[in-house]
Amino acid sequence: MDQHDYSQGAAYVRGQYLPIGQASIPITDWGFLRSDATYDVVTVWDGAFFRLDAHLERFMASCRRFRLDAGLSPEAIAQVLEQCVCLSGLRASYVEMIVTRGQPPWGSRDPRQAVNQFYAFAVPFVWIASEAQRRQGLHLQVSDVQRIPAASVDPRAKNYHWNDLTMGLLGALDAGFDTVVLSDGAGNVVEGPGFNVFCVDAQGRIATPAEGVLEGITRRTVIEMAAALGLPLAQRALPAAELRGAREVFLSTSGGGVLPVTRVDGAPVGDGQVGPVTRRLVDTYWAWHGDARYSTPVRY
Ligand code: PLP
Repeated sequence: MDQHDYSQGAAYVRGQYLPIGQASIPITDWGFLRSDATYDVVTVWDGAFFRLDAHLERFMASCRRFRLDAGLSPEAIAQVLEQCVCLSGLRASYVEMIVTRGQPPWGSRDPRQAVNQFYAFAVPFVWIASEAQRRQGLHLQVSDVQRIPAASVDPRAKNYHWNDLTMGLLGALDAGFDTVVLSDGAGNVVEGPGFNVFCVDAQGRIATPAEGVLEGITRRTVIEMAAALGLPLAQRALPAAELRGAREVFLSTSGGGVLPVTRVDGAPVGDGQVGPVTRRLVDTYWAWHGDARYSTPVRY
């Protein structure tokens, strides 16, 4: 019988399941040495995966964009993820799948010769915002830090090129904000550390950046919810000035769904309260978790 304690989470490392605290990767893996990896994060809520198929589809597309091979089919990956969740027993979990470049034979610097590696883990659900922030809205800073350009690293492939996001976040936290959104160098906002951004104008029209961002699964859910609710939504460039003057602002992330923002750069958004469009989307987001179209129960 397996004597390990998986209560803090379970990982899959090179063919073996381990308690999260014992999971590690070799120091020579280019995933570590060069941030040469791709990943995806799917959540489990009330004992069921939310939009597992969409996450697996994006993960496989990320692998293709970075010329990485998971070495497993989406079905086999889904089985590994489910086993990580089952071992942990978690009913609300943050479940990550990763492919790293691995390493080429000693002496070679040719990435084509590297043996790619697949890893996965399930840990307790991770919220991007605290309970109070979710109730009252986050205070967001628009950072001068520019997101790494899409022509350098394809933001549609989920990646660990996070130094811009981390430096931006550190600056925002030091200045007393809750979180940060980066810009594209042309005065438009793009995305933040772990989320996409949306605003709503006085006419109730929703907008979100079209380019230079990860195509978040929650962003996609917001787009689909807006269509289902009959709310107009445009994917286009989003100038920082428009965000500052918006009636409502919210973020989208697997780490908590639709998160309200009630201050941007210190000034209240609209009347400074969580707005009606945001509230409707938050409620619909959680309601959709019970919808069989998006829900895959874990067989504990
Ligand atoms: N943008 C970035 C840079 C992210 O890392 C994430 C998620 O981690 C998102 C956007 C939101 O994507 P999703 O809704 O799939 O969680």
